[in-house]
Amino acid sequence: NQQERGMGMNKGNGAIFNAYPDSIGGRLAEAVRFLSLPELNRVFDCFYILPSLFHSDIDRGFSIIDYGINEAFSEAADLENIERMGIQLKLDFLINHISVLSGQFQDILKNGEESRYRDFFIDWNMFWEGFGEMTGEGYIQPYPEVIKDMFFRKPGLPLLMVSFSDGREVPYWNTFYQEIIEPGKKYLGQMDLNVKSPLVWDFYDETLRRLRDYGAETVRLDAFAYVSKEPGSRNFLNEPGTWDILDRLSVLANKYSLTLLPEIHAIYGEGVHRKLSEKGYLIYDFFLPGLIIDALSRRSNNALLRWIREILDQNIKTVNMLGCHDGIPLLDLKGLLADDQIESLIALVTSRGGVIKDLHGKTNVYYQVNATYYSALGESDDALLLARAIQIFMPGRPQAWYLDILAGKNDYEAVNKAGAGNHKEINRTNLTYEQAEDALKKDVVQKQLALLRFRNSFPAFKEGASCLIMETPANQLKLRWEHGRCAAELTADLENVSFTILQDQ
Ligand code: BGC
Repeated sequence: NQQERGMGMNKGNGAIFNAYPDSIGGRLAEAVRFLSLPELNRVFDCFYILPSLFHSDIDRGFSIIDYGINEAFSEAADLENIERMGIQLKLDFLINHISVLSGQFQDILKNGEESRYRDFFIDWNMFWEGFGEMTGEGYIQPYPEVIKDMFFRKPGLPLLMVSFSDGREVPYWNTFYQEIIEPGKKYLGQMDLNVKSPLVWDFYDETLRRLRDYGAETVRLDAFAYVSKEPGSRNFLNEPGTWDILDRLSVLANKYSLTLLPEIHAIYGEGVHRKLSEKGYLIYDFFLPGLIIDALSRRSNNALLRWIREILDQNIKTVNMLGCHDGIPLLDLKGLLADDQIESLIALVTSRGGVIKDLHGKTNVYYQVNATYYSALGESDDALLLARAIQIFMPGRPQAWYLDILAGKNDYEAVNKAGAGNHKEINRTNLTYEQAEDALKKDVVQKQLALLRFRNSFPAFKEGASCLIMETPANQLKLRWEHGRCAAELTADLENVSFTILQDQ
């Protein structure tokens, strides 16, 4: 029964499939065909489709031109088919930036001062007026004291010089990527939105309505912490600005019955996850991927258990994952793990072929290690299955990256082909439909699907169930779920990389 496909008993709380629209067979329709295979029956009840679903250019979708469906990979009917299968949608809402090629930015380039979008983006010189010195290149260099609390993701200042039609070169704030194709003429960039402009709020409202109309139930708030900026204060998680913006966005999201999932990478010790959760948000569990690798490498449950206890005690609602389209977050673990333990994890994953993004050429400001999760675990089927088993017993909603499900290995060829700065390609391999279907024959794939199906449909995980941590030595982990008379219990052996699951119904 088509209607039943995605629905387990635990609908709305079941596993999320995550891929680009073109990850399998080049088109979303092929990914949908894949999800319709009998092997995938009742495995997932939500699909998080990455933003190349929309008209976009660089950063594989995270530079949106407009929220129309990108016909190169998808059509509206695909989304309807997903809904018909009983599978929910999770989509991205990029609140920090849109593309140079967006209608709004193009309007500025064409009409300059006369553009109705004049304040839609952040004119660097207007932002810093009175807070710095004009340089020969035409941008203001802010005084050191007004940028001392700012965090820039790339060397130099986060700006892009753009050419107005009257020949002027004007700097605009550009936190993320840019690509200069022809200096002064052709360039791409993710241009930061000016949250102080009422038109930006109209755009936010219209975008959320559009996402709802596509059928989204969960909306991922991409890079939300970069939105609020003030001279002299922070440009990342600026308080209270960031919280005020989230509050205002929540009002809009409620209007469209959307659940917001704010995305932020922050050091555990700073407690940002706790603040978000206390304010009522669903949060990303970016700690789990690193904590599982740590538990397996040290054969100890201690850091992982500390985090599970906190989730349960504080009633933190999470979406967790092993891998995703970005790297494995390890810097986030500061405070849960000692610095030298984090260093060892980085060394371990890089020794297994992972690549590091270094900020400003500094190698001690590690942010993420890019690798497939399978390769990060030493390409051991047992380790991947144990990781997946732990994930489905974690409190939180599990999300699974398509390449992890299919036990994908590091794609070094893609990294070499994409060139400098594009190391994320190591874990973004596009598969032909046949490759994906073929991978379903692998034992490690079938067993993962069985685990996710179990999580999706076994009543012990139902809404209102309780998760208990059972007493074990440090080299084991025992988690038990109970709902009414039904129970499921995982005993994970971190020493021998194996596990058993007991079911009681
Ligand atoms: C996404 C990245 C993206 C960035 C800018 C992130 O948090 O996960 O893949 O490059 O936002 O949109």
